[in-house]
Amino acid sequence: MDELRALPSVDQMLKAPACSPLVERYGRLVVTEELRKVLAEIRAAARTGTAIPDGADILASLMSRIEYRDRSNLRPLFNLTGTVLHTNLGRALLAEEAIAAAVDAMREAAALELDLDTGRRGERDSHLRELLCELTGAEDATIVNNNAAAVLIALGTIGQGREAIVSRGELIEIGGAFRMPDIMERADVTLVEVGTTNRTHARDYGNAIRPETALILKVHTSNYRIEGFTAEVPGAELAEIAREAGIALLNDLGSGTLVDLTRFGLAKEPTVREAVAEGADLVTFSGDKLLGGPQAGFIVGRKDLIARINRNPLKRALRVDKIRIAAMAATLKLYRDPDRLAERLPTLRLLARRQDEIRAQSERIAPAVARVLTVHGYSVETCICHSQIGSGALPVDTIPSAGLRITGKTGGALEKLAAAFRGLPRPVLGRLQEGALVLDLRCLVDETGFIESLSQVANHGLA
Ligand SMILES: *Cc1c(COP(=O)(O)O)cnc(C)c1O
Repeated sequence: MDELRALPSVDQMLKAPACSPLVERYGRLVVTEELRKVLAEIRAAARTGTAIPDGADILASLMSRIEYRDRSNLRPLFNLTGTVLHTNLGRALLAEEAIAAAVDAMREAAALELDLDTGRRGERDSHLRELLCELTGAEDATIVNNNAAAVLIALGTIGQGREAIVSRGELIEIGGAFRMPDIMERADVTLVEVGTTNRTHARDYGNAIRPETALILKVHTSNYRIEGFTAEVPGAELAEIAREAGIALLNDLGSGTLVDLTRFGLAKEPTVREAVAEGADLVTFSGDKLLGGPQAGFIVGRKDLIARINRNPLKRALRVDKIRIAAMAATLKLYRDPDRLAERLPTLRLLARRQDEIRAQSERIAPAVARVLTVHGYSVETCICHSQIGSGALPVDTIPSAGLRITGKTGGALEKLAAAFRGLPRPVLGRLQEGALVLDLRCLVDETGFIESLSQVANHGLA
């Protein structure tokens, strides 16, 4: 107990020069609170016979407590899941041009709703409208919080109190609470299902049209595919049916792309320009899926319909801030030079990486990863694997990739490893698959940082 008396008090510790950088950085309140907890723990342990740590040790445990408390769940991580556009991991990575534009917009005032030519009130959509029209061939465009919002406001504006016809093969759930029938209900649009799960014909749409019909909704079935004995009505034919009946065709593309992805070695996804050219009156798509920008939802199409959407009071509730508008404008400008897109848009760059390049990377780093993990009883080998685009795009077409396959000796070893990886200062996320933890290296850019991160795994639950 004499020893306990030698333990410094909270006040003494706070006054110690070694503590002042902590106070400077995290604030007196936080340091005092954590210090009290550390000292209380030491006292409790001393009563059961544990030796009192010295000043340096006390400071070290204080620091690690404070750092742990301060760290964010939103910290950067290594996405080695093999899903490039992972919704739970924030989807697209922005281009440097977009990041710089967002930072400028954050730091300074900007003419968000001011026309600098006339000095009069401007519109926030104006920063994107021309670019969107140029890149899609549409007459007009508007932007909202995300594509779910785009679908909601578009449906609610043109279909409220009336009917919308949808094929039974396209009544999708995108995840969480976004199910097409529920969105329809929220938009106060009556859903009229036509056709069957696998086959819907032009006559199914034709027969369902009545005076109450406001629109036909076509949904890009982006997160699954119906194969075999199937039939769907092509967009151009649907546009024809809608035009003849005097109703609108709304095409929800989901992960709409602005360029033909086959030039990057990926499978074909319909482009927004094609959907517009086919005659859709409105096309909706996401900003942070294949387009590679920040979260946003776009509606492009007929001027009169876009004007009605802009007058909907919901538009104000769903609007986008200057930071995202700045980042999005910079992203869209990159599409003016498609030849350099894959260089400048990280998401496309990662999607376009070739398997042999990734395989060479896996062979390069396997020894270093093995050095860290074999001492804990794990085996590491290189492997071939398959990446996915994610966020619903091209769900069935995987992209050949390569990575590391980690196996453990005992039951539960892999879960333990996955948890330790998640606990790292820069977490590593892989995917558990067929008795192994697979790290798909398609999205690994910072190799040195990765090895450095892994080497800390022993301090994070893998002792
Ligand atoms: C992803 C998706 C949406 C929802 O878009 P968010 O940007 O996630 O709001 C809507 N429709 C389709 C077809 C989609 O693929």
